[in-house]
Amino acid sequence: MKYEEMRPDQINAVLRETPLAYLVWGAHEWHGAHNPTGLDTLKAYHMTLDLCRETGGVVLPPVYCGYQTMKPWGGFSHTLEFSKALVTQYVYEHLENLYEEGFKAIVLVMGHYGSKHVEAVKEGVARFTERHRLPRVLAITDYEPASWVDVRGGDHAGKNETSLLLHYRPDLVDLSRLPEGALDSGREGCTADAKEATADHGARLARLFVEQAAPRVRALLGEAVEGWPAHISRGE
Ligand SMILES: [Zn+2]
Repeated sequence: MKYEEMRPDQINAVLRETPLAYLVWGAHEWHGAHNPTGLDTLKAYHMTLDLCRETGGVVLPPVYCGYQTMKPWGGFSHTLEFSKALVTQYVYEHLENLYEEGFKAIVLVMGHYGSKHVEAVKEGVARFTERHRLPRVLAITDYEPASWVDVRGGDHAGKNETSLLLHYRPDLVDLSRLPEGALDSGREGCTADAKEATADHGARLARLFVEQAAPRVRALLGEAVEGWPAHISRGE
């Protein structure tokens, strides 16, 4: 399932049976004193591994390449900021490579999701889909599937994101690092409800992600396989 750990024969077997690739996109970014800087990427990666267990396919190693991070926004440290042009091009070239490899559906899951970052990623997807009718590509934030059943997710190191990491990697979260009393989100660099985070809430968000996303991804792959020209393996 983890692309970088697979041998060629194992990748070939997936391409024959379930030619689906997941690409997780995150950032290195300040996420409050209580969370590691890779939170965005770590939670989206674990969520996507759970999803891949349901649908089949492969998960690429997560990409840490964020635009519009906490660095330009609030001057926060331990944050790596990349240009919009690079993010767009990096997304585009990943898609071209996965297409060349023979994947017929590609799902890009964004763990970092400031609006301008999402725009940069979606521009990379659009550059690809303008050239290729197939494979089918879906680009979603990690909180979007839960929103399909009206569950609000997506914050910045607040209750939701912190809960997801408490669910997957409790060893990396230390809520005692937050100051006493009410949180000033601008100063702490996290959504003010961070102290309400629990592993149970994270487990619920993680379960909703898989429940909602799995049928959508299966349908995407089904459309791609059905629409794939039988006489050519690639190129339209
Ligand atoms: Zn985040």
